Amino acid sequence: MRKRIKKERKTIPTLKFMLKTALKNKPQIFIAYAILTLTAFMQTMVNIISSKYLVDELVSIIEGGAVEQHLPVVIICAALILGVSMLTSLLNTVANQMKEVYGEWFNEYYEVQLSDKVMKMDFEHTENPDTLDRMNKAKDGMGWYSGGVVGILNHFFDIIANILKVAGVITIIAITCPLLLPIQIISLILITIFTKKSNDIEIKYFKKLSKINRMFGYFFFQMSDPENGKETRLFNSKEMMCSKADYYADETVDAFADVSKHSLKYVLISDIINGVRDGLSYLYIGILALGKIITIGDFTMCVSSASSLYWGLYAIVNGSVEIHKACDYAYEYLKFDAIPNAMVKGSNKLINGEHIIEFLNVSFRYPRSEKYVLRNVNLTIRQGEHLSVVGVNGAGKTTFIKLLCRMYDVLEGEIRIDGINIKEYSDDEYRKLFAVVFQDFSLFAFSLKDNIILNEKEDEKKLENTLKMAGLYDDAMKLENKFETTIFKSYDEKGTELSGGQQQKTAICRALYRDSPIVILDEPTAALDPIAEYEIYKRFNDLVGGKTAIYISHRLSSCKFCDRIAVFADDTIKEYGTHDELINIKDGIYAGMYAAQAEYYIDNAS
Ligand code: ADP
Repeated sequence: MRKRIKKERKTIPTLKFMLKTALKNKPQIFIAYAILTLTAFMQTMVNIISSKYLVDELVSIIEGGAVEQHLPVVIICAALILGVSMLTSLLNTVANQMKEVYGEWFNEYYEVQLSDKVMKMDFEHTENPDTLDRMNKAKDGMGWYSGGVVGILNHFFDIIANILKVAGVITIIAITCPLLLPIQIISLILITIFTKKSNDIEIKYFKKLSKINRMFGYFFFQMSDPENGKETRLFNSKEMMCSKADYYADETVDAFADVSKHSLKYVLISDIINGVRDGLSYLYIGILALGKIITIGDFTMCVSSASSLYWGLYAIVNGSVEIHKACDYAYEYLKFDAIPNAMVKGSNKLINGEHIIEFLNVSFRYPRSEKYVLRNVNLTIRQGEHLSVVGVNGAGKTTFIKLLCRMYDVLEGEIRIDGINIKEYSDDEYRKLFAVVFQDFSLFAFSLKDNIILNEKEDEKKLENTLKMAGLYDDAMKLENKFETTIFKSYDEKGTELSGGQQQKTAICRALYRDSPIVILDEPTAALDPIAEYEIYKRFNDLVGGKTAIYISHRLSSCKFCDRIAVFADDTIKEYGTHDELINIKDGIYAGMYAAQAEYYIDNAS
């Protein structure tokens, strides 16, 4: 027997979440909704009831009744209809404007919340393509797909307003022309079934489109990114990029065409049901009026009540489907927000002073990967020691740093600082220990100064010294706005495009400016030749002074001045010692690599 898969409940949790968010942040928005709900109810009821009396009184005048007796009622009814309509329109304009302003506020609020989540989530998620996909779904889902908080609350209060309206007109119909009720309700049930079918088709395609859109967005972004200008021209990758973008654009168009094709028959059936419903309704009240069972005023009241009942019920059903659909989209945000952080965060504080780093039998493989990157790594780094980590590409050098900085937790063994497992330290405290410059460091389109200082305390003198130490001061002084010059031209036409070397120096300044006791350079110089790299590392080594320093490189030019060298190979530390010790190991890895690379720098490195 086939088991039925239980569907996840999304609408109620999402709705609750939206109501809570609105109540907590902008409770004033409920005033706007109260105005809209009450005016909608009031206008419907006043229109229907006043019209009946208006028509009946006019008929009485036409049939020869006393004008002075009937005219005042006609005038009161007309004034009521007009007055309520004007008041409604005025109040609705104010309420809608309030909603629009709060809608913008909530859009920005969620952009910030989403970024906050991305910044605070375990680092491993940021390297997981599935997380990226989920983040896009969360963004789209909370954005224009659902309309966000205001979009969903609009549906919710629309339903409430229509429930009130329907209750009012049902009372009128039950008293005047009761058979209209089943006609309207049955036709509505049928239409609901078919509308739901066509909505289910749309939701199915939304999920598929999210992935297609991400791929399309990626190619589109790559094509228009000026940074790719060289590759696009020199490798003639334009054709390839365009055809990929075309492919995903075609997929999008096909998906929309499929939605229309599959939902068309349901739209047609709904139209036919509408026609039959109208015919039966008019026939029934027409017969009542002709048989003088109801007055002409009652006839018009029944016609508009039937119409209000149908459209009210339709709006409730449609609103429920829409709210379900919108919550389905926005639920992606709730799901993303609920991605748990698996890393246990301790609360221990670090004591200022000397720090000893220990790797004890550390083994690690990346999530979703079977292969161990590091096995049984044992290493001790003492305060002030300068360690060089070398090995071929893919040997696990960066992974070693990621583990030390606790971007990932070790799988086996433990890393200790000052004798305590690093998991027991408070995250913020622990991160302060390190100033790291990664190979793929990021500079932002802020000023040169802000790129270096980031979250540290501003100190002009210290900034100047740092720039001087890194050999960037003279270049910085030549810039139009000196340290205040924006890096990159994309957001500031007065910005500057730094050379590769200047960018690396800026990243190095960032590490120097931060007074962390442990500094790490993870090959930020990969684009430079071995001699230039040697110069930067040597200079950095002098600048670092008594701090603990770890340098990563697959080149050995940056090792000679270090106290110790750890050679990573075959998933572990294969050789460990000083330059002189390692160079003398017969058939040693380091000795072999050194001999192979020596020609680059033998005459230059002293
Ligand atoms: P190195 O810094 O020595 O060049 P890495 O530490 O970057 O080496 O990589 C070691 C191995 O781990 C490589 O095989 C690499 O493909 C793999 N690896 C690196 N990052 C990830 C990741 N986020 N997920 C899965 N595998 C990874």
